[in-house]
Amino acid sequence: MARIAFIGLGNMGGGMAANLAKAGHDVRAFDLSADALERAVAAGCLAAESAAAACDGAEAVVTMLPAGRHVEGVYTDDVFAAAPLTATLIDCSTIDVATARRVGEAAQAKGLAMVDAPVSGGIGAANAGTLTFMVGGSAAAFDRAEPFLAAMGKAVIHAGASGSGQAAKICNNMLLGASMIATCEALVLARKLGLEPQKFYDIASVSSGSCWSLNTYAPLPGVGPQSPADNDYQGGFAAALMLKDLRLAMDAAASVDADTPMGARAAELYEAFVAADDGNHDFSGIIRSLAGAAS
Ligand code: NAD
Repeated sequence: MARIAFIGLGNMGGGMAANLAKAGHDVRAFDLSADALERAVAAGCLAAESAAAACDGAEAVVTMLPAGRHVEGVYTDDVFAAAPLTATLIDCSTIDVATARRVGEAAQAKGLAMVDAPVSGGIGAANAGTLTFMVGGSAAAFDRAEPFLAAMGKAVIHAGASGSGQAAKICNNMLLGASMIATCEALVLARKLGLEPQKFYDIASVSSGSCWSLNTYAPLPGVGPQSPADNDYQGGFAAALMLKDLRLAMDAAASVDADTPMGARAAELYEAFVAADDGNHDFSGIIRSLAGAAS
């Protein structure tokens, strides 16, 4: 079993670090939050005094941080200097493609193997060890990272060169944001036209309108399988995080001159929803703003 540094023990990282410890690894955990660190220790990790201390002697370093600036700061200030040259560096945060590539190149220049490995799946999947990892980096770096990622997920897919994991993640979530809004619109319109939402679900979920947002994550309570809609839109994937990913997608689209009108509209609608709500409700709750008082 390996010694692993884990930095960033929040909603996602907490469960992921716990699963590495459960798999028998020696997990040296660090977070700026004392509460998060305490929870990781209760889950079987050893507390490190700093990010650099966590990296000392590590075979792998895993980070799960809020945004690009945190990732660049932690790698530049701590990980690059403290991790052994034999360590495999794995950033699982969702960040912009440009920063992921820049940090990946800096690692390579120092002779360190690094992958960007953002995840699909929320807090439940992080706790259950059923995340999907989309991985960017060289084939050799992927091979080294794969066993560590497999201990935290159900699927580990090599997307391509450095930054490709982040590219896959934001394209997937742009598709998800737009498809959720389209699903909400269809359900609201069906209801206004006199159809029972469950009846529309029964039809569309086995017809050409079927999609993940409808079939497995229907945004109305009592329709389809259990989803955050049945729990007053608590839990699941916060609208603020969907907005974060849509903004990353729009920045990436602008950087390569890609035309993404549906993604742009989804970003505008989530911008308005998060401004009007607190951003903490599940992203499917956007049906409330599309349906107005009728939902
Ligand atoms: P979070 O805010 O709960 O956790 C981030 C943790 O990082 C916090 O505990 C914070 O104290 C810690 N941190 C920040 N800067 C640090 C530093 N310099 N050194 C050490 N620790 C530091 O966020 P989260 O929900 O766990 O999300 C983490 C990442 O995963 C984000 O990039 C997010 O977009 C992505 N993500 C989240 C979800 C989700 O459902 N929450 C799903 C998929 C992807």
